[in-house]
Amino acid sequence: MERKIFKKEHEMFRKSFRQYLKDRVLPFYEQWEEEGITPREAWLEAGKNGFLCPTAGEAYGGPGADFLYSVVITEEMYYHGVSSLFWPLHNDIVFPYIDLYASEKMKKKWIPRCVSGEAILAVAMTEPDAGSDLAALKTTAVKHGDAYVVNGSKIFISNGQLADLCVVAVRTDEKTKRPHEGISLLVIEAGTPGFRKGRNLKKIGMHAQDTSELFFDDCRVPAENLLGEEGKGFKYLMHNLQQERLVLAIGAYAAAQGALDITIDYVKTRKAFGKTIGAFQNTRFALAEIATKVQLARSFFDDLIPRHMAGEDLVREVSMAKYWATDLQFEAADRCLQFFGGYGYMTEYPISRFFVDARIQSIYGGTNEIMKELIARRIGL
Ligand SMILES: Cc1cc2nc3c(=O)[nH]c(=O)nc-3n(C[C@H](O)[C@H](O)[C@H](O)COP(=O)(O)OP(=O)(O)OC[C@H]3O[C@@H](n4cnc5c(N)ncnc54)[C@H](O)[C@@H]3O)c2cc1C
Repeated sequence: MERKIFKKEHEMFRKSFRQYLKDRVLPFYEQWEEEGITPREAWLEAGKNGFLCPTAGEAYGGPGADFLYSVVITEEMYYHGVSSLFWPLHNDIVFPYIDLYASEKMKKKWIPRCVSGEAILAVAMTEPDAGSDLAALKTTAVKHGDAYVVNGSKIFISNGQLADLCVVAVRTDEKTKRPHEGISLLVIEAGTPGFRKGRNLKKIGMHAQDTSELFFDDCRVPAENLLGEEGKGFKYLMHNLQQERLVLAIGAYAAAQGALDITIDYVKTRKAFGKTIGAFQNTRFALAEIATKVQLARSFFDDLIPRHMAGEDLVREVSMAKYWATDLQFEAADRCLQFFGGYGYMTEYPISRFFVDARIQSIYGGTNEIMKELIARRIGL
């Protein structure tokens, strides 16, 4: 079905990226899942092919493309069930912090490496005692001359093992009575003395993605690695979370469509009681319901994406999108898996991956309960 938001060049890009996934990602994905991480070579190859940081400006070695190219990458990855290869996190969630808030000198140093895949990105907000309540974070950064000395730890950090550059939320002012005003963002490079990566955490899904604890012990970070202004970190986080949530939600409806399509194929061939599974009214109604919901979601997003690109403040709408689409993703994966019977429970059937990978989507990027809080505040409650 034609999507009005995309131009011919986006659709051509989609075609070539889809082929790339088929040739260079899908054949290896099971192995990466077993290893719990994606090899660095896969990132470098993606960089070479122009699939990393598509929105990075030409002055920094990027393609200078619009956000719709990122949307295509996210949709295709989630549609094909390879969502734990976290290029969208790198491209659209972490990269914008550097693009928007780093100094010109640091942009010149970092962005070309983000585009080539030599520098893999992560964002570290969450701490053992500060998840939903982000303003409670305790990691400190105390200024000593031309450096910040960072102490503390982070948890559940995506790309944590691979990361070369981490955008880390730190407390630079411990005295302020308004905790969110004491937060700043620092880019901490892997290999900086005092920065240690913990183990790759074992998860129930998203197996090709490395998720880690990060530790900072008297870690001296050059002051020039500060993003934007000191004390404005919380404001930057809130600003960039709009795109983070939108990207997660875009992935969600694409994954729901992916689960639906492989299920439609399956129920047309699998038989019971002399009929295909797809001939039972129960199957037909369930899949018709999911198809309807995915269609509704897509219309909502085709309205939101251009408005986001135009710079509109969409906290209410994006919170709705994130909670509703990620719930839909899980519902679709769960109901579709049922039609595979026992085979759906086997990891060799991709529907099982759609199911386990869907579970996290309502938790990270702000839980769906927090999304509903944000909506409630904006409908006058
Ligand atoms: C696989 C994975 C990858 C992740 N990647 C990253 C990453 O790259 N970077 C990063 O910084 N973080 C990351 N996270 C962390 C993630 O963002 C947090 O887990 C999430 O924000 C929730 O925080 P929490 O786990 O501390 O849960 P808590 O905040 O302890 O919440 C527990 C429960 O209480 C509910 N709750 C909390 N407050 C309220 C409230 N006011 N009203 C109603 N209910 C409430 C929550 O919705 C939730 O259901 C990742 C997590 C996972 C599991």
